[in-house]
Amino acid sequence: MKRVAVLGATGSIGASALDVIARHPDRFAVAALSANRNVDALVALCVRHRPALAVIADAALESELRSKLAAANLATRAACGAEGLREAAAGDANIVIAAIVGAAGLDSTLAAARAGKRLLLANKEAVVMAGPLLLQALREGSGELVPIDSEHNAIFQCLPSGRPDLERCRLEQAGVRRIVLTASGGPFRGRARAQLAAVTPDQACAHPNWVMGRKISVDSATLMNKGLEVIEAHWLFGAHADQIDVVVHPQSIVHSLVEYADGSTLAQLGNPDMRTALAHALAWPERIESGVASLDLVRMGALQFEAPDRATFACLDLAYRALAAGGTAPAILNAANEVAVEAFLAGSLPFLAIAEVIDDTLDAMPAEPVGSLEALIYADLTARQHAQRMMRRMHCC
Ligand code: NAD
Ligand code: MG
Repeated sequence: MKRVAVLGATGSIGASALDVIARHPDRFAVAALSANRNVDALVALCVRHRPALAVIADAALESELRSKLAAANLATRAACGAEGLREAAAGDANIVIAAIVGAAGLDSTLAAARAGKRLLLANKEAVVMAGPLLLQALREGSGELVPIDSEHNAIFQCLPSGRPDLERCRLEQAGVRRIVLTASGGPFRGRARAQLAAVTPDQACAHPNWVMGRKISVDSATLMNKGLEVIEAHWLFGAHADQIDVVVHPQSIVHSLVEYADGSTLAQLGNPDMRTALAHALAWPERIESGVASLDLVRMGALQFEAPDRATFACLDLAYRALAAGGTAPAILNAANEVAVEAFLAGSLPFLAIAEVIDDTLDAMPAEPVGSLEALIYADLTARQHAQRMMRRMHCC
């Protein structure tokens, strides 16, 4: 029996993970669940899944969580804040699902890696910010990372050893020529720049194929999600930037591809449902039922592929630029993006200004080598302050 901690349990990935786990009571038990501020949703999940530990990130809500767990007659212990999340990540779970959104997930992701867990990584912002530190933590803890971002999970499945290579420069030895990440293109695919000036948060979050949290939905609409995934692929698979390509595939059936030196290209296909990647990563190297329907290619009829519109969706190239700059640049990119997306979702920043805020922040903050976690956290904070200042200059907040 594997014990699983789900960090970010009340989110979209959390729900998919718990759905798969509940299908296999003989294999998996829930050890810990966490949420940011939604006590009622967390307690409802505790009633259903009976974890030993429930963590609410907002410490002010710990006593409310404790009393509601008691009122529900649960033996689940309550904890809170960064310490509580670290305890859930590094406690007695065998598998940790890192599904907190944004830089807020970094600390617990690193804690799970250091503690030698099987780390199911959805929280791409953590690896974008702190790729080298995450790899070091995995080596120190002798843990293993199985990606659950659908593209990276697909690549993992198409690589020869069936697992990501956490050491750099092994891809050539494995005969890999290129990694191709597929992108749906988001809800605004095919639109010209002028047609994006007045788009609303709800339009940006109406993803054609995937149901996801609001931050990643906006990232998909700007193509920053693909940019973050390019950086994620760089760290997880030791691929250089020029070995990682992006192709737009509106149906989201081909989840990504690996091209080999002999011209063979292997792809992983499936319906766009995160439960496939989660079931794969939970049971790997075995295969288990996920609840996802069979792929009906005949009904699908045709699959399309096209080049991304890099001029209209400037965030993709901003991510390649941050990857080339190295050091703290990806953390700066990520921080400016988080601040800009939050302002867009709040209705105070226009959609097209998201890329401008990130561009300006990258210009203003030269990349520094990543010496320590403290240096990264400082770069993250400074980038957020710069992005806020820029938005004030633009009269956006
Ligand atoms: P979501 O917004 O639906 O859920 C986020 C979860 O994180 C919630 O449980 C929330 O309570 C928690 N959280 C938010 N802020 C927090 C904070 N400050 N401290 C602690 N917990 C906090 O997001 P999601 O769509 O489930 O995405 C989660 C992560 O997975 C993101 O990094 C996203 O990029 C990645 N991802 C998501 C999908 C998807 O299909 N949804 C696919 C690939 C990768
Ligand atoms: Mg993805």
